[in-house]
Parts: sequence; structure tokens; C-alpha cells
Amino acid sequence: MTTVLEDGIPEVNEQETTTIRNLVNGGLVDAIDGGWGESINPATGRVHARYPESGAEDVDRAVSAAVEAFPNWSGLPVRERSAHLRRLADLIDSNRDRLARLESIDQGKTLAQATDIEIPRAASNFRFFAGAVEGAPSELHQMDGQAINYTLRRPRGVAGCISPWNLPLYLLTWKIAPALATGNTVVAKPSEVTPATAGVLAELAIEAGLPPGVLNIVHGAGSTVGQRIVEHPDVPTVTFTGSTAVGRRISEVAGPMFKRISLELGGKNPVIVCEDADLDAAMDDIVRSSFANQGEICLCGSRILVHRSRLAEFMDIFLQRVRGLRVGDPLSPESDLGAIVSREHLEKIESYVQLAVDEGGKIACGGTRPSALPERCSDGFFFEPTVVLGLPQACRTNQEEIFGPVVSVQGYDTHAEAVTKANDVPYGLACCIYTRDLARAHRMAARIDAGIVWINCWMVRDLRTPFGGWKSSGVGREGGQDALRFFTEPTNVCLNLE
Ligand code: NAP
Ligand code: MG
Repeated sequence: MTTVLEDGIPEVNEQETTTIRNLVNGGLVDAIDGGWGESINPATGRVHARYPESGAEDVDRAVSAAVEAFPNWSGLPVRERSAHLRRLADLIDSNRDRLARLESIDQGKTLAQATDIEIPRAASNFRFFAGAVEGAPSELHQMDGQAINYTLRRPRGVAGCISPWNLPLYLLTWKIAPALATGNTVVAKPSEVTPATAGVLAELAIEAGLPPGVLNIVHGAGSTVGQRIVEHPDVPTVTFTGSTAVGRRISEVAGPMFKRISLELGGKNPVIVCEDADLDAAMDDIVRSSFANQGEICLCGSRILVHRSRLAEFMDIFLQRVRGLRVGDPLSPESDLGAIVSREHLEKIESYVQLAVDEGGKIACGGTRPSALPERCSDGFFFEPTVVLGLPQACRTNQEEIFGPVVSVQGYDTHAEAVTKANDVPYGLACCIYTRDLARAHRMAARIDAGIVWINCWMVRDLRTPFGGWKSSGVGREGGQDALRFFTEPTNVCLNLE
């Protein structure tokens, strides 16, 4: 049921258009050829911002600035680099409301999701890596009085940071922060679909006094700006979050150049509900893991596997909860789901729901665009939270990433079957297990082929832990020490003691 209340919606000036600029060598600049792209507000379907439609030459200038800035930045004492990052974190905090509103308007996410989770997390990314690099352990290996080895870790130079549209500032800063903390300089490219908050980050980086060239942000299309970053000979390190298809293309370019790459890619995450699960306790999580940010989070569960003895009961409670979710104006505090990021993505989601029906699935709820939306949102891109039943494991709907508010529910009979189904997709990013039997949960977790297994929770994130995926979900790990290692090159120094 869709109800949208106008009350409490922050005032929106529909005529206002934000102008975003590139950050190159410490200055806010337009694209060299003067081109502009337009960013759409998915809640209204109207242009709300314009960004520089940059080309290869803009990237080349940014890389030159980053190369030039590298010796001084990497030569700063760690505590001074960390102080810069903490200043930037403080500025993100003090601009939280402005950033959150812009993120919601640019991406379609609810204002609450942006205000309470994503913008604070962007600040904590800088703060976390400022501290992590200060507290990083050093490695020493002794050889019985014969020699001592110690490992130096030096920054690798210019890091290319390419991020997607689903959690724009959150994921961009998750890459920039460890790169800068370890002494690399950065050329970053946000998604052209959601460039707005990166535009503000550029202003804040200047205000924080980051030396020119240390952080460069170049806006534009993936196929030009992204591609040029990946193929640029002076960018030895590339960290990418996005689709598996683009990740594959990046590997093909970067592999023969012997670049170091980190790829955080798609998912088709299972949620396993065992026969002894505490459904009352689990249900909030499962509803959130299915539909948070309209299902546009790589960690969202999209395949719910329920022990057959609890399937009917699960469906009763789950469907009642899902039908109670309100799709509406992202700026309204009454909305649980906002808008889908773009018309193109909405059409992709609709085509997958049609595919689910063609494959024999039954739409238990949702499956359509909402019928009632406020006038302001009448041309926006919205979709009801959708639950599909009755599909076999091998069908495309259960195998391919949809990345929208669509989940499929399947039954299972044995735990072995649950684990087999959980693993039987090309992806391996995350998995949730709900059970009161913790010994069983540990046994199952050890057999799940995924980078993260949550037991009786979802989206609990400790930034020190390794983050990444198995199989087509990615290559490498980010977070904590893994990120610090990724952005540095080790040299072992061996000292003869004899
Ligand atoms: P995408 O289309 O792969 O784009 C990701 C980024 O790559 C964008 O900035 C894009 O630029 C750029 N890009 C496109 N083509 C490129 C190329 N040839 N060379 C270099 N860069 C290029 O992904 P998306 O649709 O934005 O994001 C959704 C996907 O991200 C989903 O598959 C989701 O699972 C995945 N994701 C994974 C994680 C994770 O941690 N594993 C987290 C979040 C999202 P433009 O958009 O400007 O063209
Ligand atoms: Mg947009």
C-alpha cells in the first residue's frame, strides 16, 4: 500500500540547479572542452545538477597533478596526513544536512538513509583510516640470531578510485580515505549518474587545506573518464566498485599493464532462515536487507531461503511487513523506500519482474510502479517492494543480479540443501543465517562461499574487517589492514647479524 504524506518534507526549489566542477590540482575547474552533462533527480525525473562532461585530457591533467603532488604528500609524517583527513571528516560532519539532502535528491534514496547512515559513514571512512594508518603494525621476522627481516611499506603513487551510483559519497570516500592515508595521491571518478556529493567533497577538500593535486575528482562517463584512468600508465593502482561486467573490462585493460586492482562487484546474496529462527527478532533485518535503499545495496539479500517447516509462517509475517512499507518522496520522513536511481534502471528492474513471471514465478506482492505518488513525484522512477515465489534455483531470476527492490523466496528441506543453494550462483559477496543454534550457524558459515557471513544480523560493519567477494563478486579485499596493504608496496629488508 502506498501512502505518501507531504508533511515534514524539506522545502525543495524545483528551479534550482547545482553546478558541479572537477577538482584538479587544488582548483575547481570545468571540462577542458567545456561540455556539461546533466544529473537527474530520480524522484521527479527532472534535471537538478550539471557536471563537467570530461574527457581523456581532463584525466591526464589530473594524473599529472597527482604525480607532482605525490613526493610531498607521501613524505609527510603520518600524523600530518591523518590530521588532514580528520579535518575533512569534521567538514563532512558539519555539512551533513546539506550533503544528505543533495545525496537524496541526486540518487533517490530516502533522506533518512542519507542523513543517518551514509553521510556519517563518509566522515567515519576518513576518521577510521586516519587512525588505522597511525596504528598500523610493522612486520619483523627474526632468523635465530642470523638475520632480521623487516618490511617497509611505501605508497604506490597515484591511485585511481572509481565508484558506483548506489552509495555515492559513502563508497567514494571508502576508496579515497585509505589511498590518501597511506600516502598515495588520488584521481577519483564518481558515477556520472550521481555526481553531486562528490562536487561538495571537492569544495570541502579545498576548505580542509588538502595540498593541490593530492585529491583530484574528474566527472564524466565511465567509458571515457573511467577508461582513461584505468589505462593511464601513471596510475599503477585502481580500486573499482561497480558491476561485474565493467570489472571484467577493467581487468582486461589493467592486467597486461601489471596494475594492482581491487574489484568490488555484484552480488546475489542468500538469506537463510533455519527452522529454529527467531522470526520476530529477524524480521526487521530481513525486511531491511531486502529493501533498504530500494534494494540498491550490493549487500542486500535477494534470495531468501526458508526451511520448509517455517515457510508458510514466514510468508505471512514477511508479506504483511512488506505490504506496510511506504514508497514515496525520498525527502519525506514517511517514506520507507524512495526512488529508483534512473529510468533505465527502473526499466531493467521491470524487465526482471516480467522475466520472473515468464519463468513461472508468482508475484506475492508488489511487481508494479506505485499507483499513488505525490504530484511532485508523478514523473519519478518508483517501484513497489516485490516478493516472488515459486522459482527454481537455476532460473535467471535466481541467478542474476537485479539490484532493486525484488526478492525471491524459496523453501529448503535440509541444511545441506540450504548451503548448496546459497552457493549455487556465480556470485559470493554476502550471506545471512538466522538460527538459534549457534553451533549450526558456525558450521554453515564455514561452508558458505562468500566474503561476509552475518549470523542473526545484517549490515553490521566493523571497518577493520576484510571486505570483498568471492567468484564474480570481486577480486581482493578492502577495509582495515587489507586496504592499507593494497595501497602500499612492500620491501623486505634483511639485515645480516653474523
Ligand atoms: P557500473 O556501471 O559498473 O559503474 C561503476 C563505475 O564504473 C561508474 O563510475 C561508471 O561510470 C564506471 N565505469 C563504467 N564503465 C567503465 C569503464 N569501461 N572503465 C572504467 N570505469 C567505468 O556499476 P553501477 O551500475 O554504477 O553500480 C551498480 C553495481 O555496483 C552493482 O552490480 C552492484 O552490485 C555493484 N556494487 C558492488 C559493491 C561491492 O562492494 N561489491 C558495492 C556497491 C555496488 P558511469 O556510471 O559514470 O558511466
Ligand atoms: Mg542523479
